[in-house]
Amino acid sequence: MVSPVLCGLPPEELAALIDFLPRFRAAQIFKWIAAGASSFGEMKNLPLALREALTGRFLLRSSAVQVRYEDPDGTVKLGIGLADGAKIEAVLLAGGGRRTACLSTQAGCPAGCVFCKTGSLGFTRNLTSAEIVEQFLFLREAASHGAPSAAEGRAAIAKGRAGHAVDNIVIMGMGEPLLNLAEVRRALAVITCKQGMDFSKRRITLSTCGISAGIIDLADKGPAVRLALSLTTADEALRRRLMPIAKAHPLNEVKEALACFQRSGGGRITLEIVLLGGLNTRSEDVAALADFARGLDTVVNLIPWNPVEGLKADDGRPLREPSPGEAAAFAGRLKAAGLKVTRRFRKGRGVMGACGQLGVLPAE
Ligand code: SF4
Repeated sequence: MVSPVLCGLPPEELAALIDFLPRFRAAQIFKWIAAGASSFGEMKNLPLALREALTGRFLLRSSAVQVRYEDPDGTVKLGIGLADGAKIEAVLLAGGGRRTACLSTQAGCPAGCVFCKTGSLGFTRNLTSAEIVEQFLFLREAASHGAPSAAEGRAAIAKGRAGHAVDNIVIMGMGEPLLNLAEVRRALAVITCKQGMDFSKRRITLSTCGISAGIIDLADKGPAVRLALSLTTADEALRRRLMPIAKAHPLNEVKEALACFQRSGGGRITLEIVLLGGLNTRSEDVAALADFARGLDTVVNLIPWNPVEGLKADDGRPLREPSPGEAAAFAGRLKAAGLKVTRRFRKGRGVMGACGQLGVLPAE
């Protein structure tokens, strides 16, 4: 029998699973997990006999870091092995004095975006809440340059300081989070719980390729995280060629879902445009984007495509990154059209940990 894994359980689920113990024990264990304990032996305020009994019945974590790559720019990419042999990646991005944890939500991805290595891998399965929370814990440990001991983490939480070495979380790794929303919700319930990790929802951004029903579900039931739409282009025909999943989610429905998200109190939405040289930087794309953004509170984030060997457009042409001049000109035309525009720094290319590159090992 597979032992239940505790680190992905929100407090009430943890308490229900170990309801043979007094309620305060569940709270103690939850705090230890939040502090980074990876064994029951570290939970010094639990009697020794209980620690030993729990060790035989439950697991605290289910996955393990198998390989770690570090880019000179500060990016850390972790290759993580799951209990069933599936592999995922999680990335720590460093820049501007902030450290951002990029989490995966699926092994592989069913969306099939032509510019993304993960999309070319196909879909294996949804991740569990525990597998998502564990990525955060591994990246937090990586950001601490050697994990602080669980006892130190526990002491910080007891003083009302979660002690995070991570400033932001982006749910932009492998997979489409809104196709695994139930487990993403449970994971975020753990990560944001005030009695434990206490990570601010406003420092978490979930990125979707435009699953309309999922956006509305998020707007209705939370959590109240920030939202990013991987738009790529607002030219519907081109978008369907570049992002096959878009065939099932017409842009008018996606826009209505974004409006619903903002009516329910969601903040400014980031429209992510992966710039593909010669493909989605045309004047038609500027006009379509301006039309799509009208009536919404948005900022456009331009991300020059990060090359991945072998990826091609649907007509067989190899993809290319835009020249700096092409990217700058496109940004200028968007601004002239009245859009707010930011450009993403290139990070993590040296370890194939940049946007669209997850699933490629640096040695490949
Ligand atoms: S860009 Fe995101 S949604 Fe598209 S295939 Fe890659 S991981 Fe999936």
